[in-house]
Amino acid sequence: MKVTEHINNAKKTVFSFEILPPLKGQNIKALFENIEPLMEFKPPFIDVTYHREEYIYRDKGNGLLEKRTTRKRPGTVGICAAIKNRFDIDTVPHIICGGFSKEETENALIDLDFLGIDSVLVLRGDPIKSENKFVPDPNGHAYAIELMEQVVDMNQGKYIDEELQSATPTDFCIGVAGYPEKHFEAPSMKSDLKILKQKVEKGAEYVVTQMFFDNQKYFDFVKLCRAEGINVPIIPGLKPITSLKQMSALPRTFYLDLPDDLVDELEKCKDNAAAKEVGIEWCIQQSKELIEFGAPCLHYYSMGKSDPIYRIAEGVF
Ligand code: FAD
Repeated sequence: MKVTEHINNAKKTVFSFEILPPLKGQNIKALFENIEPLMEFKPPFIDVTYHREEYIYRDKGNGLLEKRTTRKRPGTVGICAAIKNRFDIDTVPHIICGGFSKEETENALIDLDFLGIDSVLVLRGDPIKSENKFVPDPNGHAYAIELMEQVVDMNQGKYIDEELQSATPTDFCIGVAGYPEKHFEAPSMKSDLKILKQKVEKGAEYVVTQMFFDNQKYFDFVKLCRAEGINVPIIPGLKPITSLKQMSALPRTFYLDLPDDLVDELEKCKDNAAAKEVGIEWCIQQSKELIEFGAPCLHYYSMGKSDPIYRIAEGVF
């Protein structure tokens, strides 16, 4: 079933979460073990992130450097199928512009369609370490909206491969990202919302937000979206803080603010274990308030660790 169908069928706020593919070379077993306990809270869907190739320069020993590409977390398509099979649950792969040509994207989407995947979260992707700004593949997409248009085309039976012109159309439900604290490259919230509105007009059916720690940011974002005529479900993305380091790493990486009250509590913590307790409790309170507000779904960023998400879900769902 599509994400929007799950949301429409639900009588209350649903629980879902996002996982990262295991690091290259690691087994999927640990991932399954991480997911297993969270099934108790009956998530209707699980997202699986996509990770772009990084460039590595390897010394060939003769003074020359060899450029190699590597994907540190490969396997999104296969992992979606494996989780779907194992837990009989819908999976939502993230698909990204970065590192992919339009043909490669078309092939990946055809595979996802064969595998019975009904929804995709369409994103641009971030710059890789060797870039200071996002560089699209020479035959790929520069913005998520262009990638989204490719999915919409396929849903209408329009393929790039000329031999596929009479092929059955796909039927993906399309989700996109939203930023309650503005995307870091957007000159203003207004311009960011203008793009989001265009995405919805062109076929995006739901939005998942970047993580935030102050619910007022989400409430204001929803209000601004509705005023712009963006009327699709807006799913809040949540992440509990689990270490002291994240106090500076999260704002730096995701361009967000931590509320003063949360920082005050974290500053009192002697170690990571104490910070994790503060983070979990904060996230529980955030979740309860979001449910009261009527959020359609709470979507947790697990970052590879299910135990804090389990504790939150236990306290909330
Ligand atoms: P876009 O919509 O392309 O926007 C990027 C910037 O360009 C914005 O500032 C926007 O305002 C501007 N813009 C957009 N379109 C245009 C246009 N036509 N003309 C001019 N300006 C424009 N990254 C991954 O690599 N893998 C993942 O699995 C992943 N999952 C994510 C899940 C969620 C819920 C979120 C919120 C983010 C995720 N990301 C992921 C990170 C995401 O790729 C980055 O935030 C990225 O920098 C922007 O992606 P986007 O889809 O919002 O890009």
